[in-house]
Amino acid sequence: MSTTSYERYRTNVEGALDRLQPTLKLTGDERELFTRPDWILQKDISITRESGVRESFPAYRVQFSNVRGPYKGGIRFHPEADLEEVKALAALMMLKTAVVDIPFGGAKGGAQCDPRTFSPRELEDLSRAYVDAFWEELGEEKDIPAPDLNTNAQIMAWMRNQYERRIGRICRGVFTGKPLSYGGLQGRDIATALGGYYVLESTLQHDDRHAGDMRIAVQGFGNVGGNMADLVHHDYRLTAVSDVRGGVYSPDEICPKIVRSIAKRTGSVSGDCSREHPRMNHMQLITNDELLELPCDVLIPAAIGNVITGANATRIQAKYVLELANDPTTPEADRILRERGITVIPDVLANAGGVIGSYYEWVLNKSGGQWPRSRVKRELEEQILAGYERVREEAARDELTFRQAAYAVAIKNILTTVRERGGVQRPC
Ligand code: NAD
Repeated sequence: MSTTSYERYRTNVEGALDRLQPTLKLTGDERELFTRPDWILQKDISITRESGVRESFPAYRVQFSNVRGPYKGGIRFHPEADLEEVKALAALMMLKTAVVDIPFGGAKGGAQCDPRTFSPRELEDLSRAYVDAFWEELGEEKDIPAPDLNTNAQIMAWMRNQYERRIGRICRGVFTGKPLSYGGLQGRDIATALGGYYVLESTLQHDDRHAGDMRIAVQGFGNVGGNMADLVHHDYRLTAVSDVRGGVYSPDEICPKIVRSIAKRTGSVSGDCSREHPRMNHMQLITNDELLELPCDVLIPAAIGNVITGANATRIQAKYVLELANDPTTPEADRILRERGITVIPDVLANAGGVIGSYYEWVLNKSGGQWPRSRVKRELEEQILAGYERVREEAARDELTFRQAAYAVAIKNILTTVRERGGVQRPC
């Protein structure tokens, strides 16, 4: 039976709360902080299509928790972005910011639409319509969105601009992931992939594995997957990549630069490789389902959620799963992978580089400064690896998986703040 994203989140978080109950003695109100969002905002937004027809799309902003700081989380434009999914993603953001200890809460937004059918003008209109619907609930100290699936720096620029038109003054830090010329951060574009790369390197070093021998398969070739493919190409063997239309596999190695040029010309990484480039002759076309089950050492889901399930977990051949996508693994699959000795590095840790980069962007927007790319990379490495070490220690002490340990670290951090500030209160 298939479960919703929010049901999967509930299973994981309630398991973590139950394990922590004997030591933390959580009250009912404290437990509710992790299972009930503060605010659910839901409106239909509409645009005029190029055809002249007016069309509406359901849009959401879920503000899950601001215990540790302003609500924070991306906005996705996707056909499957419904309230259950946005709620789950908002909850994961609450945990993620706490795992890597940055002073933000958790939120998420989405509009249910297929942006592949949009012209650039329609996409801009939808982005501005989203802000028109929710601007009163956003703000630099209130709720700070960022890019996610099918949204990018250009969309953040339109959104910031629309927000400023609404409030009638400049507000640099209300959106992160913006273009460099409009308040962005050097390196924010690669921050999610880079954070995942640092976490992967530490994990492999810890297990005494050598990068050069490791075969890596990446699902998704957008902001996160494409940048990760570039990063691992240097030190590892990248053997497969895919996008929404399908993927390519080589038992030897594939070059992300060539794949990117194929995608540019044909619209997909799985465009006809053999005709495109002589060096791609040895590549095979594969489906996204096949990519997940390929012989490889590290599997990196970096596209959509709910792809590693009870139905395919027994056939995963990787020894490591690095979750750069949000919510790619169901609890049932998680159990199967654990029993099979496969290490899963969970989304709330593995893809936290993005929100860490967003945090630096927000801080610098407030102070009016800019950091060179080298400093962004250095600070990001230190911050994500500090979170990684906390999770590793927690896992080792209580014999937990990395996911269970990451949830425990996050719950403890959030609870410490709640108790120090004087208990559970109505969100401000
Ligand atoms: P993106 O829109 O830039 O890229 C998404 C990629 O996934 C594209 O290559 C697309 O073709 C592919 N894709 C879409 N549907 C697919 C499907 N059904 N099967 C296989 N591939 C599919 O998005 P992104 O920003 O790279 O985000 C990817 C994932 O990473 C999402 O789960 C997102 O929540 C997560 N994430 C993103 C960030 C960030 O900073 N952008 C941060 C943390 C987590």
